[in-house]
Formats: sequence, C-alpha cells, structure tokens
Amino acid sequence: MTQLPLRAQLASALGRSAATLSRMTGRGDGSVIGGRVGLLLEPDLLRKLAHDRRLALVSATNGKTTTTRLITSALLELGEVATNAFGANMPAGHVSALAQHKTAPYGVLEVDEKYLPEVLDTTGAGVVCLMNLSRDQMDRAAEIWLLAQKWRRALSGKPTHVIANCDDPLVTWGASTAAKVTWVAGGQRWKEDSWCCPECGGPLDRKDAFWACRECTFHRPEPQWALDDEMAVDPRGQRWLLDIQLPGLANRSNAVMALAVAEAFGVPVERALPHLREVTSVAGRYTTVERDGRHARLLLAKNPAGWLEAFDVADPQLPIILSVNAQGPDGRDTSWLWDVDYRILRGRPVFVTGERRLDLALRLDVADVPFTLCNTFTEALAMQSPGRVDVIANYTAFQQIRSEFGRAV
Ligand SMILES: [Zn+2]
Repeated sequence: MTQLPLRAQLASALGRSAATLSRMTGRGDGSVIGGRVGLLLEPDLLRKLAHDRRLALVSATNGKTTTTRLITSALLELGEVATNAFGANMPAGHVSALAQHKTAPYGVLEVDEKYLPEVLDTTGAGVVCLMNLSRDQMDRAAEIWLLAQKWRRALSGKPTHVIANCDDPLVTWGASTAAKVTWVAGGQRWKEDSWCCPECGGPLDRKDAFWACRECTFHRPEPQWALDDEMAVDPRGQRWLLDIQLPGLANRSNAVMALAVAEAFGVPVERALPHLREVTSVAGRYTTVERDGRHARLLLAKNPAGWLEAFDVADPQLPIILSVNAQGPDGRDTSWLWDVDYRILRGRPVFVTGERRLDLALRLDVADVPFTLCNTFTEALAMQSPGRVDVIANYTAFQQIRSEFGRAV
C-alpha cells in the first residue's frame, strides 16, 4: 500500500490515541471517538484510508453486523481484513476500523443505510452487499422508499459490483441502477413494506418466490444464488449445506449473501464456507448468559422484521423472556409493537420486562397471549426453572442485560 500523506498519518495516529484513551477511561470501545477525532483533523481521512484497498460495504435494515462478520471471516482466507466489528457503522466508525488495520489490503464495512451513498462516494468501494429494507421503529414505508431511491442515485454510473437480495422488491429497485449486480434469492420473511411497486406504486403480485408489478415491467430478476432452506445454491447449480453455527433462517440468508460476496472477491464456496462455520456469536447476539443454573440465550430484535427473525430462532419448547426499552437508540415511541404479530407465542410461558413492559403487556393482552409481568430481567430470570430460556430484547434492553450479566459464557 502507498503511504498516507503526513497530515492523514497524523490524524489517523491521533484518532487511535483518542480511541485508546476512551477505552482506558471506560467510555466505550473507542472506535467512534477515535474516528471523530481523526475526521476533525483531516476531513478527507476516510477517502485516504480507503485508497488502494479492496472494500465491501454491507447495508440493510437487519443483519448488517452479522453479515459483515461472515464476509470478514471468509475474506481472511485472502489476507488481513479491516472491519468495524462492533457496529459503529457511520463514517467515524469506518475511519477507526481502517486506521486500526492500516496495512490490511481488504476491508468489510457495515454501513448505516442512510450513510451508504456518502460512504460509497468517499471510499469508492468495489463491492456493495444489500440485503433487506423494512421499517425501523417509527420509520414508515415512504422513508425506506426514499432510502432506496438514494441508493439508486449513488450506484448509478459507478463500476461497483452489487450483491443484492432479489426477494426484497425495494432492495431490488435500489440496486438495479448498478452496472453489475449479482442477484441472490435470500428470502423475505417480512413483507409488510413491499406490497407496492417501488417504480410505479402499482400492486405487486406474488407467486411463490416470484414477484412482479401488475402495472409496469418491474419484476423479480433471475437469481444467480439462492437459499433453499438448509442449502445454498451457487451460480453453477451446485448445492452446499449451510451447517453454520448461527441459528435461524435469517442467518442462513446472511450466509448465502456472504458466500456471493466472497466469490466476488475470488474466494470460492469450498474455501469460504468453513470460515462461516467459525462464527458463533456476533457482538453478543446468540450468546448465553448464566445465573444459578438458568441459561438465557440472548436474541436482539430492533424492529418488526427483526422480531419475526427472532421468533424463527427461538425454541418453541422453551419459556421466553421479552424485554423492551424505549431509550434513544430504540426510538422513544413503542407503537411499532403493534406491527408485530405476537400470537406465535401462545402456549409458551412468556415473561415480560424492560422499561416499557406495560406497553408490551397491553400488546400481548390484545393478542391473547398470556404472560407474567416482571419488574426486572433479574426477577424474570429467577422465576425460571433451572435450564434454558430464550430472551428477545430490543437494543438498549439487550445491552443492559449483557452488561449486567458480565462476560457471556
Ligand atoms: Zn410498477
């Protein structure tokens, strides 16, 4: 790699010191503060750090962190990879990730959906991976449609190779201005934000996996890759068992996307797949915490589509604890709870906690799901018999449980 200009070297070094200080003073992992300091000193730092590297950007409403991790794991086959492993997915986090791995020839960056156009322009990334778009907390369909429109503009006229999920009509529309697209049939569990054609507003007709607009020519492109339950099907029609350790359909979908991205970097499936199997937990997701013989597996769900994915992973034979907060990162408004169909929980012992437990309790009551209200997560856990229990929590509730129960086991 070529040397960074002096000013960028200094900005990058000071950013790293700020990150170290931030960690030493217990103010988080430091990846954001370090990047901010670097960007203040050298506004063009991200472009300079990205120069000369082969980068993949990963964006979606759900599954960004996990897919970033899976792709990173696969690309380690080629050499050192810089990545923002802890979900710091805005430019300061990207600066920090690249500054920490200055010599890495590869980078895999999770990118917040809204920042994708800016980060793509700045970094000139060669590969972009797009998985799904759905309402996030209080966002509504019109807002994600605007996002997809911005993706279209950003991708248009660039040589970027896009790997996109063609089972999501909005993602398909957002990706289809790109010069080169590899379509992946990654599935779509949550369909409530894609009943209308993003191109003309007409109704979308669906037959099995295929979808098409009734009023214009917009339709599902032919996929090169597909997820078929437990199997990934590659562009040559060869089938691969996705015996990964991360649970659930959503993660198998993430894995197929990761295999397609790995192949775009020249890593064939037979070399990528063993690396995907090595990933067991991503930023605390799917890890188990233990207290007094109660083993609680933590599932993160930040929005309605995420809750459906978590229901898919949760074991129907086990009791389940639900914890909902409404602090800044969660969105203050909990009306999105009404978008989730909780009836799937009927017949299971359900325990409800979190700062907004009463909002969730009302929602469950209307859905005829019996539950036990608990003041704290500790209380909910203590009410369990020794053994396993699943936990679904939204963002700050999840982080609280992780920090309270210390190191995951
Ligand atoms: Zn249409």
